[in-house]
Amino acid sequence: MELNSDPRWRRFNDATRTCPCCGQGFQGIFDIGYDHPQVWPHGNREASGQDILEVGRDRLGTDLCEMDEHYFVRAILPIPIIGTDQYFAFGPWGSVSEKSFKAYVEANKSIAPTFDGCFSWLRNDLPGFEMDDWLPCDLEVEDPDQRPRLYVHEGTHELANLQRNGMTFDRLLDVYAAAGQDIRPHLMDA
Ligand SMILES: [Zn+2]
Repeated sequence: MELNSDPRWRRFNDATRTCPCCGQGFQGIFDIGYDHPQVWPHGNREASGQDILEVGRDRLGTDLCEMDEHYFVRAILPIPIIGTDQYFAFGPWGSVSEKSFKAYVEANKSIAPTFDGCFSWLRNDLPGFEMDDWLPCDLEVEDPDQRPRLYVHEGTHELANLQRNGMTFDRLLDVYAAAGQDIRPHLMDA
């Protein structure tokens, strides 16, 4: 089914509309990003106002993080939305081996970066999903100008299935609500 026939989807994407109850407006799908890996103990980098937050030998930047011999890369975890050609993305961190981290950093220094991808653990809990453990993923660079993408290994978690087959708009609204932004009441008719 095309989502365009869902009036809530049309309202969600209509930047000229304001909600009759509160005046809020929406401009369609927005991502949910993470300032740092969940295990990072030194607080929020963005709130600190620093490009790189350094505490002892631990370092956190916008895209790279080193902590206690652990290495993290900021990624996106895309999930297509059924009935559209759009996708929603979480912006979580993945942990990678020291060898992969160095190869990734080296690749990004070159003019035409090439990185073969590597294994990575998803290291942020994602709202709206059962997250009992870190999830095994492939980290892939599809476009060198964009953040690398995490794909959860097939058969390990519901997310793997949703990444391949898409999730519904209703599920997306559930995810936003679980993340503290329940916009469902604001997509209703006047
Ligand atoms: Zn409202």
